[in-house]
Amino acid sequence: MKKLPKRILFVSSESRPFASTGGLADVAEALPNELNQMGVKIDRIMPLYRKVHEGQKRGGYELQRSTHTLQIPMGSETIQTEIYFTELHGTLTYFVNCEEFFDRTELYALPNREYSDNFNRFLFFQKAVVALIDALGQPYEVLHLNDWQTGMIPLLLEKGIYGTGRGGHEKTLYTIHNLAYQGLYPATNLYKTNLPGNFISQYPDLEYYGQLNLMKAGIAGATRVNTVSPTYAEEIRTEKFGCGLEGVLSNLAHPVIGIVNGVDTKAWNPETDPALPANYRLKSLSGKERCKQALVEEAGLTYKKETPLFVMISRLVDQKGITVIGQAMEQLMGLPLQFILLGSGQEIYHKWIQDWNQRWPEKFKGILGYDSELSHRMEAGADFFFMPSEFEPCGLNQLYSLRYGTIPVVNPTGGLKDTVTDVRQNPAHGTGLLMNSYTPEALLNCIQEGISLFHHKQQFRQVRQRGMAQDVTWTRTAQEYLDLYRDLI
Ligand code: ADP
Repeated sequence: MKKLPKRILFVSSESRPFASTGGLADVAEALPNELNQMGVKIDRIMPLYRKVHEGQKRGGYELQRSTHTLQIPMGSETIQTEIYFTELHGTLTYFVNCEEFFDRTELYALPNREYSDNFNRFLFFQKAVVALIDALGQPYEVLHLNDWQTGMIPLLLEKGIYGTGRGGHEKTLYTIHNLAYQGLYPATNLYKTNLPGNFISQYPDLEYYGQLNLMKAGIAGATRVNTVSPTYAEEIRTEKFGCGLEGVLSNLAHPVIGIVNGVDTKAWNPETDPALPANYRLKSLSGKERCKQALVEEAGLTYKKETPLFVMISRLVDQKGITVIGQAMEQLMGLPLQFILLGSGQEIYHKWIQDWNQRWPEKFKGILGYDSELSHRMEAGADFFFMPSEFEPCGLNQLYSLRYGTIPVVNPTGGLKDTVTDVRQNPAHGTGLLMNSYTPEALLNCIQEGISLFHHKQQFRQVRQRGMAQDVTWTRTAQEYLDLYRDLI
């Protein structure tokens, strides 16, 4: 039996319940909690955003200041940081404080623009992580890094410019949650890293066509690389999905492996979910109908038991297939259904949704914003869930949908392909509806199929219950990560 790492540090730019924008935060919360419960010692570290301060009461945690104050060089400047911490659900989380960088409304971007100093902000965070490891004096054996905001850490450790630490002997696992966001910045920023030398060409892991690419640095520099579903692990080695890094990803000594995310079953459980007007379970779905009625009325639509309800909860960005919905919308609204959408993101999509609200007030309700509790009520109240993503590394909402007896309608890419089975192709095991291409026609075809399924009550209930019975828990996922950590050391 391979031995277990003594201590692991999970490094990410966001985590629930502290601050979140998407699926990474769900993983950053659930995976360390699950591993700690399994007896693995794993801590977490992230930036101290304003939202972390604000969320203390609601999130049930209290920030404490540690004795560690660190001096972080950023080019010719030195910035001081204090480290805060809290312990929640068995996991110790460290927070890197820097008001200049993290005391802002949002994590990465305002609706119409990204913060212009994101390179500085996350370079600072990564340096502070390395400096804290050194200051703690208790070495971590494995650092679990996540996405571009942590991609430079292997290089910073290797160069050992923050004292002795373990001199770069930590093993690193780098998890790609979304290859489309790479952290690409002009090479003129190199001096801020304080790495020795002045030329980007000295750092082939970091260099990408003359620029700094933090995602590439993570992929090329880490001991091992994984991503969040087996299909996405395959896809990103191709030109279509590789976002320019397919070559690097194809030539790694250890091929990228895919581990599907799980569901935090404490937060997402229709039997106990406090956000729902009624709870329900696999064997007794009557509460779900009450959730539907309450949701339809909350959205200002008229509840009709015999009208299927489709919902979508999403960051409103190109990846998520809003364009396909837009192209299908006219015909979609001609069908006997209702549609409620919750999301925020690119301004153009906000405009579309405001327009749809005006055009189809009887059948469509678009809600702009981020609302965790409403997202629970929507998962519970819906009959079907839209995820027509162009690409989807793992996707969480289809997993929540399965658990809540809501049938996912998906474009089978990445994790959507790995977790949803088509009812037409596989009537005995089907749990959802799969588009046969990334087109409005394919989406409409699935919707029509969904409406027909909705009216075949017995079959509809069976498909729902099959989804609810699918194992989407973190226990399986955490075990797979544990095997990877063991392999690393
Ligand atoms: P991604 O990480 O690409 O955004 P995922 O499906 O992996 O996509 O995870 C999205 C997570 O964020 C889910 O938990 C989803 O419910 C949540 N989410 C996205 N947008 C909103 C919103 N507007 N309000 C509430 N929750 C949202």
